[in-house]
Amino acid sequence: MLTWVKIDGSALRHNYRVFVKIAGEERVALVLKSNAYGHGLKETYQALTAGSKDETLKKNSYLCTNYLFEARALRGLGFAGRILVVGPLPYETLHDHFAEARELNAEVIIGNRENLESWLSLSEKPQVHIKFDTGMSRQGFYAEEAFSIADLLKSHKKNVIGLCTHFANVEDVLEHDYAAKQLSLFDSAVQAFHKNGLTPLKHAASSASCLLLKQSRFDLCRIGISLYGMWPSKATRLSYLQTFKDLVELLPVLSWYTTITTLKTVKSGQFIGYGCSIRAVQDMKVAVLPVGYYEGFPRLASDAHSYVLIRGVRAPIVGRVCMNMMMVDVTHLSTVTIGDQVTLIGGDQGETISANDLAGWAQTINYELLSRIHPDIPRIIQ
Ligand SMILES: *Cc1c(COP(=O)(O)O)cnc(C)c1O
Repeated sequence: MLTWVKIDGSALRHNYRVFVKIAGEERVALVLKSNAYGHGLKETYQALTAGSKDETLKKNSYLCTNYLFEARALRGLGFAGRILVVGPLPYETLHDHFAEARELNAEVIIGNRENLESWLSLSEKPQVHIKFDTGMSRQGFYAEEAFSIADLLKSHKKNVIGLCTHFANVEDVLEHDYAAKQLSLFDSAVQAFHKNGLTPLKHAASSASCLLLKQSRFDLCRIGISLYGMWPSKATRLSYLQTFKDLVELLPVLSWYTTITTLKTVKSGQFIGYGCSIRAVQDMKVAVLPVGYYEGFPRLASDAHSYVLIRGVRAPIVGRVCMNMMMVDVTHLSTVTIGDQVTLIGGDQGETISANDLAGWAQTINYELLSRIHPDIPRIIQ
């Protein structure tokens, strides 16, 4: 194999248990969108359903996807619990979409008038959650529309499963006053539904808000990044530490490996890679790795400010990351050979490169880095 991803099943189940402990079992909705944040939808589902009785995914759990095809895949894997598809609806093919959601027994989110009218016109309706835009300016109705929408939905009570919103500014700050404003708008929307006799589930939290804001947990917490053992951001981690004086233990689930496919000597004065961005100032030993930006390794992690691990030692990337390859400087590694295993994310002999390290070097966040690891790369459950 040229490159592969390892999934630590027991770390995944540990993180799941962390949230069961924080929020209560019935409140944890696991977010498996974007190929389970790059961990592999199938492998993540399999790893979640393995393990002992008290750590494995419960049969009546909630899973969240972005697309309907992901819900279809989960049904294909035998998941019979509840599925909430959180992504946008395709306007042109809305009726087919609703019909398939119904067939799959998947719940969808409605957050605009056009989708609501189309849903109301159906004789056979899939179950829905109504979304409120309380400050993200993305999906959802405004809170002031809640009363009129509740009025339209009065006679469809049994198909209105939830009311939800999404926070815009919990991850990036230590003070959560914006979230408080969002919560108060959400509350006014919920009250408007109550006045119309509708009392569906309420949900707002994702990883950061579930961790930090007890008042945001309501009936469900949609847990994504932290299921995979990552803090949503440094600020979230710091904020947690400030509030609770201790940290919950989140264990990274994913590591990413490759091997050296070519080892070569680059003579002093020779250039390395596209744009001749680097020139050897001494004779160098360079290893070629079969991973590039197509595979999901960020191109911004080029030119000697990013590292990989070989035999437990950091080796700097030299020159620009190519489409399917990159070069690393191994001059300082006397024993390196062709075929050696290389760690792109993970630990090796006490040294670690975390997803956060690599994301930082590439000027991005762990979410983007992980979710862009190419889905065709084999995921091996450990
Ligand atoms: C992705 C997503 C989440 C999960 O967010 P994390 O920060 O990864 O926990 C929750 N809710 C919605 C609507 C999402 O799209």
